[in-house]
Amino acid sequence: MTTPALALEGVTKQYGASVALKPFDLTIAPGEFVTLLGPSGSGKTTVLGIAAGTLVPDAGRVLSHGKDVTRQPTHLRNVGMVFQRYTLFPNMSVADNVAFPLKVRKEPARVIAEKVAHYLDLVGLLPLADRYPSQVSGGQAQRVALARALVFEPALLLMDEPLAAIDRRLRQMLQEEIRRIQRRTRVPTLYVTHDQDEAMHMSDRIVIIRDGEMAANGTPQDLYWTPPSVWAAEFLGDANVRHVELAAPPEGRACAVRDAAGRRLSGTLHPSACPKGRLALVVRPEDCVVRRQPEPDAWPGRVVDVSFRGATQEVWVELEDGWTIRASMRAREDIHPGSAIHVGWPAAAAVIVGAQG
Ligand code: ADP
Ligand code: MG
Repeated sequence: MTTPALALEGVTKQYGASVALKPFDLTIAPGEFVTLLGPSGSGKTTVLGIAAGTLVPDAGRVLSHGKDVTRQPTHLRNVGMVFQRYTLFPNMSVADNVAFPLKVRKEPARVIAEKVAHYLDLVGLLPLADRYPSQVSGGQAQRVALARALVFEPALLLMDEPLAAIDRRLRQMLQEEIRRIQRRTRVPTLYVTHDQDEAMHMSDRIVIIRDGEMAANGTPQDLYWTPPSVWAAEFLGDANVRHVELAAPPEGRACAVRDAAGRRLSGTLHPSACPKGRLALVVRPEDCVVRRQPEPDAWPGRVVDVSFRGATQEVWVELEDGWTIRASMRAREDIHPGSAIHVGWPAAAAVIVGAQG
């Protein structure tokens, strides 16, 4: 196994009596883009501070390329940082802002000029080199901050909600751009956001944090299609959730279950679920199939609501026992409240997880 670019091992943090971070582990492989995703107050900035060296954990270790840096201050750690608030020096030009970390490191003037030009070009801001921070937009200011964080070729890039203050369309453009630049530079990155879509677009891997604890860890696809819990499923997107119990002993991961109405369902048991505990079946709306004719493994119901989403429409279908299922359909398909239809899904699309949390 290659040595991780960053490893947090059992780090904890308490502010007075309140526990911000329970023993927390996180690794970033060389070149990897990892997103720390969680609701506000879940501990994301605390983890980032520990990774940066602006916070010393109460317990645990921080390793940078295998070396213990737990107590090493930020300026000795070779990390680039970008924050939500624009932190440019207002009295320096864009070029001088980007040059600053190189001047601190006493690089020769010729090297500074070359690197500043290279990184300003990388973020598309070479023409604005002589402007001052007050003369650029919010999105441009964050590009400058990114160039300044990358110009000294850091061992690690840390970003704390860098796009949170930026409008949706520009935010989507910058997401693509940050991702493209990270792929080019291969700098190991820990990116913090509370925005699920942002995390899914950008990441090689997502670590979900909840109340100071890791709630999930995997690729965006893994976490979206096989969430480890009801909470993770609902946090990452829309989900149909049904409390169930085993109808037969599981065969491998394939699992036959029964709901309170006696309906037989099947799905894949998540590795983290205890088959003897309380269980829930989770299925994404886009995996639900709506048909006008009866089909095996589809239940009759009535459309009770339809909501237009642009590319898709969300259809709420009430089954005869009152279970309301949310299905996502092509927007151009003609369907209306009151329609009698049948709804089902491929068994492979259903995940059985622990019902707690
Ligand atoms: P996030 O970045 O996910 O919003 P934080 O890491 O900033 O979360 O905070 C985690 C928890 O620790 C929150 O409950 C927050 O109120 C608390 N906290 C953070 N910083 C301090 C501090 N300096 N003093 C006291 N409590 C803090
Ligand atoms: Mg924060």
